[in-house]
Amino acid sequence: MTMELNDERKDIVIVGGGIIGCATAYYLTRHPSYDRTKHRIVVLEATRVAGGASGKAGGLLAVWAYPNNIVPLSFKLHQDLALEHGGEEKWGYRRVLCGNLEAQGRKRSELEGLGPAPGLPLGKRAGDAKKGGKAWSGTGLPKDLDWILPELVTGYEKMGGSRETAQVHPYHFTMALMRLAEEAGAELIIGSVTAINYTDPVSPASTPPPQSQPTVGNTGDKSPSASSLSSSSSRSRRKVESVTYYVSATDQEVTIPATHTVLAAGPWTARLFPAAPITGLRAHSVTITPVSAVSGYALFTEITIPSSPDVRYRGPVSPEIYARPNNEIYVCGEGDMDVEVPETTADVQVDEQRCDDLIAQVSSVSDHIRLGRVTRKQACYLPVLNIGGSGGPLIGETGTDGLYLATGHSCWGINNAPATGLLLAEMIFEGKTKSADIRQLDPRRIL
Ligand SMILES: Cc1cc2nc3c(=O)[nH]c(=O)nc-3n(C[C@H](O)[C@H](O)[C@H](O)COP(=O)(O)OP(=O)(O)OC[C@H]3O[C@@H](n4cnc5c(N)ncnc54)[C@H](O)[C@@H]3O)c2cc1C
Repeated sequence: MTMELNDERKDIVIVGGGIIGCATAYYLTRHPSYDRTKHRIVVLEATRVAGGASGKAGGLLAVWAYPNNIVPLSFKLHQDLALEHGGEEKWGYRRVLCGNLEAQGRKRSELEGLGPAPGLPLGKRAGDAKKGGKAWSGTGLPKDLDWILPELVTGYEKMGGSRETAQVHPYHFTMALMRLAEEAGAELIIGSVTAINYTDPVSPASTPPPQSQPTVGNTGDKSPSASSLSSSSSRSRRKVESVTYYVSATDQEVTIPATHTVLAAGPWTARLFPAAPITGLRAHSVTITPVSAVSGYALFTEITIPSSPDVRYRGPVSPEIYARPNNEIYVCGEGDMDVEVPETTADVQVDEQRCDDLIAQVSSVSDHIRLGRVTRKQACYLPVLNIGGSGGPLIGETGTDGLYLATGHSCWGINNAPATGLLLAEMIFEGKTKSADIRQLDPRRIL
């Protein structure tokens, strides 16, 4: 069976140049059965590579992320990729410390009246100093986390040491994987996919019995879930034949052959495959150049800011704060459903007020941030499953021959992209996954 799958010419079309599409292209080109003179791998991207969440995410990697059937594999693959391709330099891969911070923030009106923090521009380590005559609080705040004002901290809990948490710069990581895939023979085409075309359905009566079909997409074991999946796939006999895309630069529609199509269009996936229970959740983020260098921490926070007329939110807020190696601080906030997923990544509406709120929230606990320079205000959409009971992602066959889903990665798509790409490469070239058991993520469970 494997020989048969390996011998066939494959025209693999990946829809979406986010991290999932690019990681899939990368691992397809690394598969031992890939032959660039025989197989074709095309990534079709509607706007630009990493133009969506994949270029605007935080980039935290954690062994305690979810789902746990792919996280350990992916965490390790991140390290392997960084070692093999110089990821530390190219996409800011590094191990990072992670914690949960509780703090009492200062009012925005108070911040506006504040001058520069004493000593900060000189690079004095606040962690070694006593603030206002008060010693470091007994909150467990690490000493080198000296860019958070200790007197405001009410609690700190370690969430990851350097063995459990790491980070990448998602934009550079996505771009690098796409470039590496291209160097190995994959093609990137900027064009918006308008249709996936199928052969006419073949009547089940005229097809061989299920056991003589190539089993693509699963471990082939005899568990109840595996057999129910294969019977669901035998109901639908149509097969992917080609993909049509529109190129706005030339105002042309083009159709290319496809033996395998991987739908990795993030929150746009359901527009091409309406059965996919995927939607988008908007989230805002900002980047800031702090006033002086900061130590490497990823912080989940709960900041309580006293209510005042200039504060729009009530109760504690929970911005995530990631210090990056290039003297950049990334901050993202909670999601909102105010604006539906727009036509393309280029049409995402950025609510400036939400970005300003994020800046005020994190400035309320850090003078390094308050006195820093805001370099980017942005928004993007997380691809999330809109059905209860399954957290996603969905990785694998759809029940239509040759059509695969790789989407719904929610808030861990950067973390889980390498495992997703590797497993899809195994499915496509070997007919089954061998690096992890992902039956729980099989789209046919819920389609
Ligand atoms: C604020 C925020 C912070 C996050 N932080 C982290 C983090 O710290 N760690 C982590 O692991 N994850 C994080 N994530 C999650 C992560 O960003 C996503 O899970 C991941 O980027 C999803 O990647 P994707 O490739 O599925 O989707 P996308 O990045 O959305 O890519 C989909 C691509 O498909 C293209 N496309 C759509 N329709 C078509 C079409 N018809 N034809 C051709 N192309 C099409 C789009 O243009 C887009 O480029 C974060 C997300 C957000 C929003």
